Amino acid sequence: MSNLQLTKRDFLKYGTSLLTAAALPYPYQAALAKEAWDTIVIGAGTAGIPAAIFAAQRGLKVLVIEKASVIGGTLFVSTGQISGAGTVFQERKGIKDSPDQHYDDIMRLNHNTSDPALTRVLADHAGPTINWLAANGYTIFENHPVKKMAHDAFSVARYQQGPKGATGPWGGGLAILNTMKPLFESEVSKGSITILLETSAVDLIQSANADIKGVVTQNNQGKSLEYKSRSVILASGGCASNPRMYEELHGVPLYCQMAYPQSQGAGLILGQSVGGFLRGGEKYSPLYGMILSDDKVPATPYGVVINAIDRKPWEVLVNSEGKRFVQEDHESIDHIEHQIGKQPAHRHWAILDQRMLNEMPPMIYDWSNQRIMGEANNHIMFKSASSIKELAIKSGLHPLNLENSVDDYNRKTANNQSDSLGRLHRPLAIKEGPFYSVRMSGWSLCSFAGLGVNENFEVIRSSGETIKNLYAIGEVIGFGATSGNAYVNGMGVTPALTYGRLLGQRI
Ligand SMILES: Cc1cc2nc3c(=O)[nH]c(=O)nc-3n(C[C@H](O)[C@H](O)[C@H](O)COP(=O)(O)OP(=O)(O)OC[C@H]3O[C@@H](n4cnc5c(N)ncnc54)[C@H](O)[C@@H]3O)c2cc1C
Repeated sequence: MSNLQLTKRDFLKYGTSLLTAAALPYPYQAALAKEAWDTIVIGAGTAGIPAAIFAAQRGLKVLVIEKASVIGGTLFVSTGQISGAGTVFQERKGIKDSPDQHYDDIMRLNHNTSDPALTRVLADHAGPTINWLAANGYTIFENHPVKKMAHDAFSVARYQQGPKGATGPWGGGLAILNTMKPLFESEVSKGSITILLETSAVDLIQSANADIKGVVTQNNQGKSLEYKSRSVILASGGCASNPRMYEELHGVPLYCQMAYPQSQGAGLILGQSVGGFLRGGEKYSPLYGMILSDDKVPATPYGVVINAIDRKPWEVLVNSEGKRFVQEDHESIDHIEHQIGKQPAHRHWAILDQRMLNEMPPMIYDWSNQRIMGEANNHIMFKSASSIKELAIKSGLHPLNLENSVDDYNRKTANNQSDSLGRLHRPLAIKEGPFYSVRMSGWSLCSFAGLGVNENFEVIRSSGETIKNLYAIGEVIGFGATSGNAYVNGMGVTPALTYGRLLGQRI
């Protein structure tokens, strides 16, 4: 068995089936462990796929280790909204833009909290990365690029999404995966990329002087092997499917289960085990308006309330004390989200009345407002009552405070006086019962914390010294590294793709 050699024919034979489900039989895995690899990519997702493609196209001998039975990672679930300056899509619409403007916008939107050096690299190379996708068949919605979707606006339209994929929940990630997959498969069939599916990286091999020289894997039968390589790229994603690690690193529970199931934080552990350090957990910021399916967290999403970027709110927002805490129609959703982050358990309730439900545009994505009535008192997050006091009691809110909050809002709305929190959009007072509450939670789908890297994507120690031959790209370096303490349009997928492309070109 140990003498088994892989022939080019073997690669070709397994090349096509590898990308569907079959893991390479163990004897072949063992034979591959005898080869010398130029680079090993851990994780065939958003960042790992382009890294492997570009390295292979340069003639490097690439081994990809992927825990799941398919390549794609978070692209299966991600909205895949990306941003870049100087794209062909902007050019077609006559939109003028530059990497400098992109950089300035990112830093403005995240209050200068992303890593400046990494952000600079991103801004300089995101446009060419999107153009590379476009050259390989990636298309976007007719009305894109846009300045904003769900997050605060760029100064220039540079944000886009691919048309919905056949099977994804929102699909934009699949549009990217479907563009890159044939390129990856082509390198697999040429033998320049070899992929081990259903195989986890469980350890890194270090030489006596602590340089990285390979990876220890475990296959789906629990068998271990060691693969030697001149460099190793950690591209194994974040930890947003690992509630314990998530809470430990961010100081906030993982409220909602939305991330790719394999986002267990393996790369964060591997990087630390050889001297790397984690940073960025303090940048955590909640998103607005998640209606969880259950009280027990992490829970699955039940519905998502459309935020003030895409809809002028009619409802009033209160915290668990029954008090309003933010100008509901504030022009910056980032401002609203940071205020939510200051509320107990990041909970916020929408309070509204029957007339609002009858007259306002839909409040929840893909729901009619009639459905909200149907859910009231049937689902834990929805209540209705004939008085505000009764509504407060049913919702677990302070009754007197809620009555005062609603009275104040109603009186100032009726008298056309300035709202206590500066709200301008006040189409109706809350006065026609039954009254309704919808309980929402702050939530996130990314890990802000990640491994420290320099602008060459080399994993560093807290002293700044590099760990030789070890690189990290994608969410394993932390969403906060490129998005800071805010959700800047496209600042998860775009850096993953861009850094993957650059590292594949340079390593
Ligand atoms: C629902 C959702 C919507 C999002 N929408 C957007 C958006 O519109 N725009 C945006 O910019 N960002 C968005 N994000 C964030 C963005 O999609 C992610 O940050 C990015 O895709 C992560 O890429 P990655 O390469 O780091 O990880 P992944 O794409 O998850 O790839 C990691 C790969 O590593 C594999 N792996 C894990 N552990 C191991 C191991 N031990 N050994 C081997 N392989 C391993 C995994 O199976 C996976 O294939 C969204 C995230 C989610 C969850």
